[in-house]
Amino acid sequence: MKFENKNIFVTGGSRGIGAAIVMHLNSLGANVIFSYASQEDAAKTVLQSLKGEHNQIVKLDLSSEESVLSACSFVSSKFETIHGVVNNAGLTADNLLLRMKTEDFDKVINANLRGNFLIIKTLLKQLLKQRLGSVVNITSVIGQTGNAGQANYAASKAGLIAFTKSIALEVASRNIRLNCVAPGFIRTDMTDKLTDEQKNTIIQKIPLGRIAEPLEIAQAVAFLLSDESTYITGQTLSVNGGMFMQ
Ligand code: NAP
Repeated sequence: MKFENKNIFVTGGSRGIGAAIVMHLNSLGANVIFSYASQEDAAKTVLQSLKGEHNQIVKLDLSSEESVLSACSFVSSKFETIHGVVNNAGLTADNLLLRMKTEDFDKVINANLRGNFLIIKTLLKQLLKQRLGSVVNITSVIGQTGNAGQANYAASKAGLIAFTKSIALEVASRNIRLNCVAPGFIRTDMTDKLTDEQKNTIIQKIPLGRIAEPLEIAQAVAFLLSDESTYITGQTLSVNGGMFMQ
């Protein structure tokens, strides 16, 4: 896969899966603008590891419409053509439903679903003018299966899958593709919060018998952004070690 002279925007590139996506795409030749929410130092460390002079970082809070508009306007001002967008940033606020505060439900839906709606709606105007572009939304196996204690997160990720299919239908005639990648359990800060006992229980349910590395998600994302997937749109690519089969 080649990404020379390709411009890609990745949200949540300061850590975890997003950082792996940024570094992998850049290693394949892409210019990457990526966002961070609060960890600017972590974002700068990722930026320093990249090749080329057209990579940038931008602050983005998905729960603020003003912040989304400002970050998207920055991306459009730097990239005359946007070849790809990766909506990776996301968060959790877990609890069993009876203990889940309304603000934690809203926080997760606002960032993971409404925030990505705002990003895609804003950047779509440029993609439509260009008549090209590939958007990859990072959902989750939890959006496919549900999970006790994660009703808000599961709803946000399932919503993202349905949202992706709908927009894929709206813009396919303009040569714009939208797909999802649905990771299983990946070694990042998000899963480091789990106890060893919880991790072992999860590993027992994974046919490939291990938690994945962030690069294994980045490789799937690169495929869906690349010219090697030009006839694929509206799909969800599960990268989960076999723990859920569609
Ligand atoms: P992570 O390590 O917690 O990193 C989250 C990233 O999102 C960071 O770059 C963070 O920025 C950014 N972010 C957090 N809150 C934000 C907000 N309100 N607005 C904008 N950006 C925000 O997460 P991860 O594990 O790499 O997960 C990345 C994506 O994969 C998420 O969508 C997650 O739901 C999905 N996923 C993860 C797993 C897994 O096992 N890890 C499994 C399935 C799906 P700062 O660094 O500045 O805080």
